[in-house]
Amino acid sequence: MRIDVVTIFPDYLAPLDLSLIGKARRDGLIDLAVHDLRDSTHDRHRTVDDTPYGGGAGMVMKPEPWAEALDAVLAAGAAASVPDGAVPHLVVPGPGGVPFTQAMARQLATEPWLAFACGRYEGIDERVYEYAAERMPVTVVSLGDYVLNGGEVAVLAMVEAVARLLPGVIGNEASLVEESHEDGLLEYPVYTKPASWQGRDVPAVLLSGDHGAIARWRHEQRLERTAARRPDLLPAAATLAGLEEAEVR
Ligand code: SAM
Repeated sequence: MRIDVVTIFPDYLAPLDLSLIGKARRDGLIDLAVHDLRDSTHDRHRTVDDTPYGGGAGMVMKPEPWAEALDAVLAAGAAASVPDGAVPHLVVPGPGGVPFTQAMARQLATEPWLAFACGRYEGIDERVYEYAAERMPVTVVSLGDYVLNGGEVAVLAMVEAVARLLPGVIGNEASLVEESHEDGLLEYPVYTKPASWQGRDVPAVLLSGDHGAIARWRHEQRLERTAARRPDLLPAAATLAGLEEAEVR
């Protein structure tokens, strides 16, 4: 997968050199390029923002550098690993976007080329979204119902959630199957050695060797945990389970 990130803080994306994502990049599974938006400015101060029309607090990111940077992304990807004629799916992080979910991560993981545009200040001039949409699919995506200072943290989260789904990135791909949010339920509690620690014992069923009993216990724990922490997920999980049952029949 090709991934381009445009930001005014390229160093913010340095963690993408670490751990499994860093390894995936070195193994050639992910071709990730980070672009400094200020490289697409042409004044002495490398200006990327200006005051908002209509007044109000804060600054707005100017359209000219963004248009030039997005054109540079198209050119850079085309010169790199992407198939002929391909364009990226542009993801613009923003608190006013559609919520990022595991289902969206799964969908994005099927795409050959993703680009991310990190906003700062009060956000990006609205005309940039129109400019981009004339050239590539654009989705504004929110990490959650709160406000960050910039899109970089959201991109770190989204790239990690997408990249770990790519074949070969996670050593044991079976570990992806039972995770929280894969089928609408949260994951069951997990334990490791020692079996007894500070007077707290691992649930006996997990030491029983009875795989059927363990699977039943884990399923009950998933339901209980989801009901306690995320009751809003249960109707969707029930629908999914119903569909699966119907497919089996
Ligand atoms: N004025 C904007 C609003 O109220 O919608 C918020 C701008 S925020 C201070 C600056 C940047 O942080 C945004 O352009 C976006 O890139 C990023 N950002 C903030 N909150 C976010 C969230 N919940 N999800 C994704 N990106 C977010």
